[in-house]
Amino acid sequence: ELSQRIKGINGGGSDGWGIFYRARQMKAEGRAVTELTIGEHDIRTDPLILNHMHKTALAGTTGYAMIPGIAPLREAVAKRVQAQTGVQTLPENVLITAGGQAALYAAHHAVCNPGDRAMFIDPHYATYPGTVRANGAIPVPVPARPEAGFQPDPAVIAAHAEGATSLLINSPNNPTGVIYSRETLEGIARVVQDKDLWLISDEVYDTQVWDGAHLSPRTLPGMAERTLVIGSMSKSHAMTGSRIGWIIGPVEAITHLINLATNTNYGVPGYIQEAALFALTLGADFEARIAEPFQRRRAIALDLLARQNAVRAVPPQGAMYTMLDIRATGLDGNAFAAHLLEEHGIAVMPGESFGQAATGHIRVAMTIPDAPFSAAFQTLLDVAGE
Ligand code: PLP
Repeated sequence: ELSQRIKGINGGGSDGWGIFYRARQMKAEGRAVTELTIGEHDIRTDPLILNHMHKTALAGTTGYAMIPGIAPLREAVAKRVQAQTGVQTLPENVLITAGGQAALYAAHHAVCNPGDRAMFIDPHYATYPGTVRANGAIPVPVPARPEAGFQPDPAVIAAHAEGATSLLINSPNNPTGVIYSRETLEGIARVVQDKDLWLISDEVYDTQVWDGAHLSPRTLPGMAERTLVIGSMSKSHAMTGSRIGWIIGPVEAITHLINLATNTNYGVPGYIQEAALFALTLGADFEARIAEPFQRRRAIALDLLARQNAVRAVPPQGAMYTMLDIRATGLDGNAFAAHLLEEHGIAVMPGESFGQAATGHIRVAMTIPDAPFSAAFQTLLDVAGE
């Protein structure tokens, strides 16, 4: 028999990606499908970064790499985080991981005992419940209501905190595009301290901010010693396939996490780490260039939304997505997304794939070029208005 833990990762349900698989199947059958599903740029990793990867690999960086991360990369990440946040951050506070997802898994491993309750805000990134269950803990979704602009309510978090050891938050948010306000984050920090929780702060979209400003909760008083920050170069540098990210946390937590890394991935490939180090030197202008298409498409989406009444939206403030409220159609997100795909060849994610709180919504990934994006967005608004 396989373990209950591994058989239970999906919680007995589906993984929520049914529409995506169906879209891929339709494409394989030769049908035209416009995919607005996964959070992947419509550009490739920049050749400058790939050249560096190639060059360092050919020069011999092909052996085992330092398990916590190569020293110059840990140092560069620490400096970057300290410069961005003002919070003292040393290389010993940094563990390099195989992307944000591996960091999310490791962070829960560090703070959850088997059977502990692990909270996260709903709507949530699709893997969160599985990541919690893979660590033997119990997922506790805490709803953030569309009527509140998907801002989490600290009182609601407190009401779910009985028996919990951790809270995972994500701002800028996938799937809603919302950025948590300072007031929200201060309220969350109070609950986390009152209830003696660990905070896991998923900040993988921190370079994709259109309205307001990204605030890392690690900067708030009393939080650095109880926060694990999840970082990634997938979204900021269009390096999704390179699998490179990090955890920032207290030295004691990072020390134990290095033991976990030794017994799991045994480090991230050296030439990927060298390429990541090089990519970080490309600076804020490069990162802005990667982020800019999403800001442009957000403007297109908001403009088209303003001309109709069938669909409502909380305007996205960051990340790559727009969450649309299609409840006026009388359909839920699953039914609307299925209809849109089968009848109009447009694939979007049902809100229900991201928890209960976004029932009756769809998530549109703004991840194709402007002209087809605009056309597909207009079609979906027309379909909703029929
Ligand atoms: N966290 C959030 C909120 C995401 O949307 C994603 C990817 O879409 C990840 C983490 C994982 O990203 P990666 O493992 O590529 O860094």
